[in-house]
Amino acid sequence: MEQNRLQNLKNQAILNIFEAKTEQELEELRVEYLGRQGELSQLIKKISLLPVEKRKQIGELINETKKIIQEAISSQKKSLQHQLSPQEDWFDITVPGERPPQGHLHLITLAISEITGIFEKIGFGKVAYPEVEWDWYAFEGLNMPQNHPARDEWETFFIKDLFSPQYGQAVLTPHTSSGQLREMERLGQPPIRMLNIAKCYRRQIDASHAPMFYQFEGLVVEPGINITHLKGTLDYFVKQYFGPQREVRIRPFHFQFTEPSFEVDVTCIVCGGRGCRVCKQGWMELGGAGMVHPAVLKNGGLDPQKHTGFAFGWGVERVLMMKYKIDDIRLLFGSDLKFLEQF
Ligand SMILES: [Zn+2]
Repeated sequence: MEQNRLQNLKNQAILNIFEAKTEQELEELRVEYLGRQGELSQLIKKISLLPVEKRKQIGELINETKKIIQEAISSQKKSLQHQLSPQEDWFDITVPGERPPQGHLHLITLAISEITGIFEKIGFGKVAYPEVEWDWYAFEGLNMPQNHPARDEWETFFIKDLFSPQYGQAVLTPHTSSGQLREMERLGQPPIRMLNIAKCYRRQIDASHAPMFYQFEGLVVEPGINITHLKGTLDYFVKQYFGPQREVRIRPFHFQFTEPSFEVDVTCIVCGGRGCRVCKQGWMELGGAGMVHPAVLKNGGLDPQKHTGFAFGWGVERVLMMKYKIDDIRLLFGSDLKFLEQF
């Protein structure tokens, strides 16, 4: 009987001791099992009631149990003291820390820097011209006189009460082409290799148009510049930006500030040029280009008899959306991290 009782007592005591969370709890358990009123002491008192032949055996068992319980208490005590000072005993400088989440530049910023890098490799210098621009630089000087119907294609924001007798009404620049005249004026003579990347503004909003967007405008004026240089530059950019398999074609078009003028197409990013739902028989429209109109060269202070040049102006968001197959421009101006974190 006593043997079973001792066995149970030992098992229960060890269980409780190793579950103790504080030294206070341990002390309470010590009193409960080993104290003067404790269970073992009660048993010791009863030894004298046992038959003589059993006293020695039970006495030894009690001592053994007592020893085991004492060892368990002191072991758990050490373990608790260890946990109380983890920095002293467990600081491991080789364990990796918690990394704070790392973001990245916005897609449009990345695209601007990529486009700039591509053109800088072939000698273009990046410039920035005013977003609040005079009519002269935005329209009139680009061969679009007042009341010319071509102006209707630009849904312009006009700035009321800001007017210059020399340059006309102030507008939020509707395209980066205004930088062409400013660059010609700034340099005064060729060679000119300008890359103008700036915000532009038009009264428009739908899945592919935003009231504020970015354009990049190239302008080259150098001796002997002709259409093959334009085509070669466009081809170079398209292969660098979209990949070496992409092809470029130019189609005749009409702009007031270039002559001849072209629309530039690139082989479809989705089908690779075979033809699909997204494209027109394998081609996607990139934007406009052309040879600088003699009137524009003259307005920029250059002699159209002596100089020729080419220009192109494309939307940063447009090439970005084509590259990554993004179907709504508004995603680029939202702050949806689920979208942005994909890139
Ligand atoms: Zn396609």
